[in-house]
Amino acid sequence: MEPMLDVSNLSFDYLSASSCLPVIDNISFQAFEGDFISIVGPSGCGKSTLLDIIAGLMPSSAGQVFFLGEPVIKPRKEIGYMLQRDQLFEWRSILRNTLLGPEIQHSSHKDKRKTRKTASEMLTRYDLGGFLGAKPSELSGGMRQRAALIRTLIMEPTLLLLDEPFSALDYQTRLTVCNDICEIIRTNKKTAILVTHDLAEAVSTGNRVLVLGKRPSTIKMELVFDPDFTALSPLARRNHPLFNPYFQKLWEAFAHEK
Ligand code: ADP
Ligand code: MG
Repeated sequence: MEPMLDVSNLSFDYLSASSCLPVIDNISFQAFEGDFISIVGPSGCGKSTLLDIIAGLMPSSAGQVFFLGEPVIKPRKEIGYMLQRDQLFEWRSILRNTLLGPEIQHSSHKDKRKTRKTASEMLTRYDLGGFLGAKPSELSGGMRQRAALIRTLIMEPTLLLLDEPFSALDYQTRLTVCNDICEIIRTNKKTAILVTHDLAEAVSTGNRVLVLGKRPSTIKMELVFDPDFTALSPLARRNHPLFNPYFQKLWEAFAHEK
């Protein structure tokens, strides 16, 4: 099977006039259709940088990213990127925030009507139907994250990149929003890469996890979860007997970093 995403010998250094900061050191991995890969690594190890390169926002220093066999050299519609902060605009209603992508793309009048309908339906399906005309500040953190995900999904990406999507939420909200977001990704049959510094979140989300080391980051370990385990929701995984052994494995890979 051809990979959807092929990250091949990728390296990246931040260069300035006087210095060179090596951030990513020869990372290779592939994502196949339907994969949900969690990438976990310490703060500052280069996770956001890696997603920026995969999204086509920055060129790599060495190596390449291929999407369906084509080198990624600029952002493309099929790769959706949800940033750490929800980036909802306060001066736009929730509905109009979700329509930002199609608006930027200058879609036709007919397409605009269609996406408006799809956006309203998705917002309603994910319990935001009463907030179409509301401003972002009227929503809770979890509702904002759902709206931000719908804004990304409206562009119909086949690959979703999520950069620490729950880190701004308090602990309890985090657990339920993680559950909701993973459910939305699963029902919409998306391939996803989720970056986090939270080991428990990595165990409760992906079908496999890549552990990155300290900067300049390399892949320290790959952990593939049992299919019976990945069939469960993030919340249900936390009560499964495999949760702690998986957590422990990631923890050990982290501990070797010190
Ligand atoms: P993470 O997302 O894993 O926390 P980042 O990818 O944001 O890490 O950053 C990796 C490293 O690169 C950090 O040390 C950070 O300070 C540095 N860095 C990030 N952005 C820039 C930039 N624009 N210029 C120079 N250094 C940067
Ligand atoms: Mg980051």
